[in-house]
Amino acid sequence: MKRNTIHRDGTVTYWSVYQQSWITHVNPCAIPDKEYAAMSAPERDRILAREVIAKCHGCGEALMRKDIRWENGSPYCAQCFAPEEANNG
Ligand SMILES: [Zn+2]
Repeated sequence: MKRNTIHRDGTVTYWSVYQQSWITHVNPCAIPDKEYAAMSAPERDRILAREVIAKCHGCGEALMRKDIRWENGSPYCAQCFAPEEANNG
């Protein structure tokens, strides 16, 4: 069983069943549907949980699904996300 790697920058190195080779450092959204279909469900979920899906409304940094804080419908990173109570007092 080949083991896929999810890197800290959100890119993925995965074993391509169709090309029979390692595909390195691709964004999860660049992985073809047929390759996802060839993966096990837990593996697919593991990769999609790390997908970069938005940019921070504050600093413009790429955000992964699991790191996004939503405020008034806009995505923010943890650093830019300031709860209201920070301004009280
Ligand atoms: Zn930010």
